[in-house]
Amino acid sequence: MASESDRVIVIGAGPVGLCLSLALAQADVRVTLIEQLGDHNFLDQVPRAGSNHPATLEMFDHIGLYRRIEPRGIIAPIFHYWDPEHGELIAAFDHIHLKEDTRFPYVLQCERIKIVEEALAIAKAHPNIEVRLSTEFTSFEQSADGVTAHVTNAAGEDEPIAGAYLVSGEGARSIVRKDTGVEFEGFTYPDRTLNIEVAYDFRRHGYAERNYISDPHEWSNLFHWKGPPDRWRVHFPTKPEDDEQALQRPEALQARLQAFLPKAGGYEICGSNLYIVHQRVAQKFRVGRAVLAGDSAHVNSPIGAMGMNSGVHDAFNLADKLIKILRKEAGEEVLDRYERQRRHVAMQHTQAQTIRNKRMLAEKDPAVRKQNHDQLRRTAEDPKLARAFLLRSSLIESLREAEQIA
Ligand SMILES: Cc1cc2nc3c(=O)[nH]c(=O)nc-3n(C[C@H](O)[C@H](O)[C@H](O)COP(=O)(O)OP(=O)(O)OC[C@H]3O[C@@H](n4cnc5c(N)ncnc54)[C@H](O)[C@@H]3O)c2cc1C
Repeated sequence: MASESDRVIVIGAGPVGLCLSLALAQADVRVTLIEQLGDHNFLDQVPRAGSNHPATLEMFDHIGLYRRIEPRGIIAPIFHYWDPEHGELIAAFDHIHLKEDTRFPYVLQCERIKIVEEALAIAKAHPNIEVRLSTEFTSFEQSADGVTAHVTNAAGEDEPIAGAYLVSGEGARSIVRKDTGVEFEGFTYPDRTLNIEVAYDFRRHGYAERNYISDPHEWSNLFHWKGPPDRWRVHFPTKPEDDEQALQRPEALQARLQAFLPKAGGYEICGSNLYIVHQRVAQKFRVGRAVLAGDSAHVNSPIGAMGMNSGVHDAFNLADKLIKILRKEAGEEVLDRYERQRRHVAMQHTQAQTIRNKRMLAEKDPAVRKQNHDQLRRTAEDPKLARAFLLRSSLIESLREAEQIA
């Protein structure tokens, strides 16, 4: 169906840009996918997302991605809240409560890098997707009829690429967002989060594959990733004044882990990194023919695993609308509905929940901590309350709510 002027230009082969490209291409829309990384360094990206919620797995399945990532991940139906101060498991939430709501009543622990590797392989083989690696997007312009993206291509030349629509899946530093003057409203936490990768099986101490640890002195998160060799990722808070290098010295990393759980002989540490956490949402998700999706439109703390998941949900919502526009089954105003729907989700679900999650884990007031923990306990023990909690934490509720937005 597509002519050259119906092409969609997607910037960024992250999970969002790739899912969008595949959903469009499989509906017979032609796509040019632009990615600054090349084959030589595409897999050298720092560890980031990895917990994939049920609704996201359904979307991955729709584009043929799920069957490729499932063998590379860990099926995790249960997650835990822990209180190390009192040495107790506060609550265990089991996604089985969602068995009537989804075909995938579990989280798949599969890192972003594996997802983009598999999705890129499908994209490269798809006749409707022109994958342009080692190509840096630099600017764009638009008219009433189309867009032109300017890139520095693999040969180092400036090249214009024409299309009907431009989607920024560039991540948090989106040039499209900045060039269109769209505010990225919100805040940045003053402290950075320290991520330590360690080869040790924490399940022998009763931990699940995903654990949220509430501690007034040092909250943490603990997640299991499939190898070989298997690794666990532990996230710790830091102080704004902490020195970046000192935080990552081997003895400092070891001390953190030993304070978390003493282990004779020390831990085998596989890596570490520090990241800054922003809570921001773009004021607009669409300026004419340019649309923002994923981290270019919203960023949040990883506590709750909502950044990549909600970005992938953006991609599928947007694909549906672009397909209808290009088939002339809908006018461009559906892109405003995309903005209304997905901005609502970003504000009311991902921002609200991740901010609350961090506050709850770090809460220092003993009375409030007790109240929070009692409530979590009651919720996990009551099947109705547990289902409601999981519908929200897995973002299924956000998708249902967005459907109601005209
Ligand atoms: C430690 C950590 C843990 C996380 N854990 C989770 C989790 O468990 N679950 C979850 O849902 N989210 C999680 N997140 C968030 C998640 O990683 C992001 O929300 C997600 O990667 C965003 O996807 P994206 O495709 O929008 O952008 P990105 O993943 O940032 O991809 C953007 C792509 O665009 C390319 N690009 C950028 N600029 C240009 C340019 N000018 N030209 C060409 N290409 C360009 C980049 O190279 C990159 O490939 C975590 C984040 C962190 C930091």
